[in-house]
Amino acid sequence: MRAEVLEAMLPYLDERFGNPSSTHRWGRQARNALEQAREQVAAALGAKRREIVFTGSGTEADNIAVLGRWRSSCRGENERGAVVCTAIEHKAVGAAAKCAAEEGAQLILLGVDEEGRIDLASVDEALTSRPCVVSVMWANNEVGTIEPVAEVSARCRAAGIVFHTDAVQAFGKLRVRVDETACDLLSISGHKVGGPKGIGALYIREGTQVLPLFHGGGQERELRPGTENVASAVGFAVAAEFAAREQHDESARLEVLRDRLQAGITQRVSDVVINGPRNNRLPNILSLIVPGTDQEALLIGLDLEGVAVSGGSACQSGTVKPSHVLSAMGAVGHDGAAVRMSLGKTTTLEEIDLVIDAFERVVEQSRVSV
Ligand code: PLP
Repeated sequence: MRAEVLEAMLPYLDERFGNPSSTHRWGRQARNALEQAREQVAAALGAKRREIVFTGSGTEADNIAVLGRWRSSCRGENERGAVVCTAIEHKAVGAAAKCAAEEGAQLILLGVDEEGRIDLASVDEALTSRPCVVSVMWANNEVGTIEPVAEVSARCRAAGIVFHTDAVQAFGKLRVRVDETACDLLSISGHKVGGPKGIGALYIREGTQVLPLFHGGGQERELRPGTENVASAVGFAVAAEFAAREQHDESARLEVLRDRLQAGITQRVSDVVINGPRNNRLPNILSLIVPGTDQEALLIGLDLEGVAVSGGSACQSGTVKPSHVLSAMGAVGHDGAAVRMSLGKTTTLEEIDLVIDAFERVVEQSRVSV
């Protein structure tokens, strides 16, 4: 977390620990802080304060958007109503859409090309099913592909169909404004922008109907009941303000570093395959396949070198299965480790050069032992 975020949060974990639902002065103090935080998050997205609902994570925001929208508009009256999403959504959207399908929805998955991008013609075709929601992620978390959200949202708006976008990865890395795009629902998450973990927000354009997934005390306009996490909302708001304000310069800085990392690795390690697009990609993500290496050995080797990366594949019962994202892109058939690297606010040029050195060493060892 950013130092400013922690500093803003601390009082709300200590002397200002009121419950926003209480009417006494400590409660009112907490309520004011929560509403101020809502105002800040709204401003960072170009939304109105009442259009922001705080949630317990980006995952929760995605679930309310997809499942809550399905339950509000299709279930019951129109059992075969459709839910549309891409084949490369984060599981938070993908699994929520599957849940809607188990409840009777017709699930329409939009395929992607080898760079991970959807085709607008497939959106047009899906819209003929009159879905209750179309969900297309703003940018992909694994390979960094940026989807044509402006075009898709405009098509949905013209057709009178509710559009949701998972902007968890995009916010802070790209210009994400709801007053410049035709989206009705948009999810973001605190820990992707230097805020705390365990808080997210869902933007709900005025007039868009969704049903809550939980029931209880009626907080957050009854859409996400449960005592509000005031300290995290305050921290998230500070982080969101910085993310929006610094996005342009920070993205340019990260892109230079990421490109240096990519160039260094591809020059020093033979046969590396880059996943995702060359252009029009999130500035902080690099996804690679390293033929002739074992994924586990590579990740452990890098960890021992002090480099934290994740595998681009899910290892299940001893066999490494390509991730659903790489599979949908057709990036399978490479015999080797898939590695996903991401850069952040604290990443420096010196670190990039250390990582290139470490990567070369670890791949060499891994190739010898395979
Ligand atoms: N959507 C995307 C694209 C993500 O990358 C993530 C987290 O990695 C999520 C949703 C889930 O957010 P959270 O970790 O806040 O539940």
